[in-house]
Amino acid sequence: METLLFAAPGLLGPTLVAGLLGLLIGSFLNVVIHRIPKMMQRESDNYVAHESGKELPHTDRYNLMVPRSACPHCGHQITALENIPVISWLALRGKCRKCKAPISARYPAVELLTGVLSAALVWKFGSGAAGMATLLFAWLLIAMTFIDVDTQLLPDDLTFPLLWAGLLINLNGTFVPLHDAVIGAVAGYLVLWAVYWLFKLATGKEGMGYGDFKLLAALGAWLGWAMLPTIILLSSVVGALVGISLIVFAKRGRDKPIPFGPYLAAAGMIALFYGDQLGGIFQGVFS
Ligand SMILES: [Zn+2]
Repeated sequence: METLLFAAPGLLGPTLVAGLLGLLIGSFLNVVIHRIPKMMQRESDNYVAHESGKELPHTDRYNLMVPRSACPHCGHQITALENIPVISWLALRGKCRKCKAPISARYPAVELLTGVLSAALVWKFGSGAAGMATLLFAWLLIAMTFIDVDTQLLPDDLTFPLLWAGLLINLNGTFVPLHDAVIGAVAGYLVLWAVYWLFKLATGKEGMGYGDFKLLAALGAWLGWAMLPTIILLSSVVGALVGISLIVFAKRGRDKPIPFGPYLAAAGMIALFYGDQLGGIFQGVFS
């Protein structure tokens, strides 16, 4: 009780700051989610053209900073006032100020999700190195989740930094001993790699992508090898539930690939928050 009364107010400020920072980062993540797949496509188009001696199709600058955000319908440049996380979308009633074309509710949803998660992480892990690291963890996972939903791809530009960051943060055992982190990274990759090949040999189909192996490797680096069974079980349960309801309610074809990355990311997030309790529950169920 004493800790609740006296320790919590100390974290109220940092939690609030993390929530506001999260809203702003969420706004940037919307740009990341939208542009990284486009940047990869442009790079590959240019490479193909270069290899065959043709003129490069994309020569204008296009990255996370340039050009400035604009309405995809009328080209109206988004002003700073129209770019306030969540509030601008609400004030504009989800429509472009100039042409009134609808703006997807996903933009404020990503901002809100990032804000709430960031606040919750600092509340739980504090405002020290561990808490700051979990923010990076969450932000990268949010970007990957939506890119995977949109494109069925998990870019190396995101999975690898998450993996390296996981190994670095555990150099002094912030979340798990370095030993567990290294084994976690290798085992995470190999487990899904093996599942992929068994599935492919058995059915001739590809059940998931290499990005999924790299993502589980990254989660293993952050949370250690002992958390891998929990993560895989969690992602399979959530994935099966969502997959079945999509087939039943949205009448979605069974052959349409459902990206696995979002479930891995969600499971990694849940494992970070509740891993220890969950591990105990699963052990209880299976023994
Ligand atoms: Zn417009």
